[in-house]
Amino acid sequence: MEEVKAAPSNFIRNIIMEDLKSGKHKEIITRFPPEPNGYLHIGHAKSIVLNFDLADEFKGRTNLRFDDTNPLKEEVEYVESIKEDVKWLGYDWDALYFGSDFFEEMYSRAVLLIKKGKAYVCDLSAEEIRETRGTLKEPGKESPYRNRSVEENLDLFERMRKGEFKDGEKVLRAKIDMSSPNLNMRDPVIYRIAHTSHHNTGDKWCIYPMYDFAHPLEDAIEGVTHSICTLEFEDHRPLYDWVIAECEMESQPHQYEFARLNMTNTVMSKRKLKLLVDEKVVNGWDDPRMPTISGLRRRGYTQEAIRNFVREIGVAKANSTVDAQMLDHFLREDLKLKAPRTMAVLRPLKVVITNYPENQVEWLEAENNPENPEMGLRKIPFSREIYVEQDDFMENPPKKYFRLFPGNEVRLKHAYFIICNEIIKDENGNVTELHCTYDPATKSGSDFTERKVKGTIHWVEATQAVQAEFRLYEPLILDEENEDRGNFLDNINPNSLEVLDGYVEPNMREAKPQDKFQFFRHGYFNVDPKHTITDKLVFNRVVSLKSSFKI
Ligand code: ATP
Ligand code: MG
Repeated sequence: MEEVKAAPSNFIRNIIMEDLKSGKHKEIITRFPPEPNGYLHIGHAKSIVLNFDLADEFKGRTNLRFDDTNPLKEEVEYVESIKEDVKWLGYDWDALYFGSDFFEEMYSRAVLLIKKGKAYVCDLSAEEIRETRGTLKEPGKESPYRNRSVEENLDLFERMRKGEFKDGEKVLRAKIDMSSPNLNMRDPVIYRIAHTSHHNTGDKWCIYPMYDFAHPLEDAIEGVTHSICTLEFEDHRPLYDWVIAECEMESQPHQYEFARLNMTNTVMSKRKLKLLVDEKVVNGWDDPRMPTISGLRRRGYTQEAIRNFVREIGVAKANSTVDAQMLDHFLREDLKLKAPRTMAVLRPLKVVITNYPENQVEWLEAENNPENPEMGLRKIPFSREIYVEQDDFMENPPKKYFRLFPGNEVRLKHAYFIICNEIIKDENGNVTELHCTYDPATKSGSDFTERKVKGTIHWVEATQAVQAEFRLYEPLILDEENEDRGNFLDNINPNSLEVLDGYVEPNMREAKPQDKFQFFRHGYFNVDPKHTITDKLVFNRVVSLKSSFKI
């Protein structure tokens, strides 16, 4: 792992320092509690980095806990992908828990609430409960079942567990205050019936605890000290505290809320991301256009870039939207010294160097990374036939075009000056080949100074070039898409993927999945991990070289 920069101060970190200083806690325990109902996204990365970094800094511990109390949406595939993604981000949990491991304990805490007269079985339907809940201005109405005796409640709750009732027929509600100004405190449902198999507990249970009841208990059972969640749970905190107190939990976790990460041109809700997968807008959760950790990884973002990005945004108490280009900035920073430079031609145009001897190949030398000489040198073949970019030639160029055009001389990166003499076209008038001549005196590295040229272009020698496919990405979501607005599927960019066939240097034959390169003038590319079995290499463009973004 790279060296962690001095941790930026934030309000949660300050609270932890106070709690350790005052002796309130001897050791801090945090947790990352995903619901296994989808793949993790970059928003989760923020929560992961925050929780693990805080524990690391103060020599505490962090648990990975699957918050799996809703059997309808959860799957083992998601559990496995979440573990892989947390590890890939560079973190290792101290303990792994499933919320469902604590079902028995939660059940007995619910029984305790009933015995204390703090919970009751209610026969109202979900709709009736909603209707009698009241509004911010008006108090709710008490349920006619609210004053059932403790004995009756104990009996009914046990029979709920035994499966004697159908889904929705009964629920267990906390008995708090139907006129509380906080709607979450108006006798919230804490258990419901669902005759559904659970990925972890199978058919053992047909009643399941609700999030607001389960989450504080999970935290307390694990001994979590600082339970960090996103702002929308702020209004749930009084209920969190109520559950901890009334269930008489020994350990007293406290909940702290921070602003969730939002990014431009990005949707960040598992429900919406799942829709993109199900509707086949993308090719799976790890499609390189997805903001999932697995998508970002496949695209070529590094764990360092993601970690530094979410650290830099910091921990705030107010929601805001971060420019997605900021992540690209951290990727370029990370790869600048690490990624070898190489030449790739994405839209090839054949060039024949007519005065170069036939059947001759010479091997030129180039630095793998001029910014990092330790990366050494590589050999590049040069011969009579090369490919250049179609964009680097114009038959009738505008002013200030310094690349190839009839009669103009340019520098081939690492090689010679060439001058364009003749254009070969097909019957439709499309340029298919250029005939050029080179000047042996201009070899790169020689002290040739007689003439200067204004344009330098890249190229790949034709006979040894390796065929490759290049995938260029644009944002999947058009603009200002924001979680609360209309149908986001209407806001999909139809041109988010462009696939090109071209060539790379011969030593790229050795490239391995997830290897990253800087293609001269094009940007950073990653070898796609899923396309190495075919005879063609596939490169995902992570980011282009330039950005207008200033940090
Ligand atoms: P989603 O709406 O994407 O499903 P969620 O909050 O329901 O998100 P969980 O699996 O319950 O997803 O989240 C696990 C943890 O990650 C929680 O602590 C949650 O607060 C945090 N988290 C989720 N999304 C973000 C985000 N955009 N920014 C910061 N933290 C987030
Ligand atoms: Mg959720």
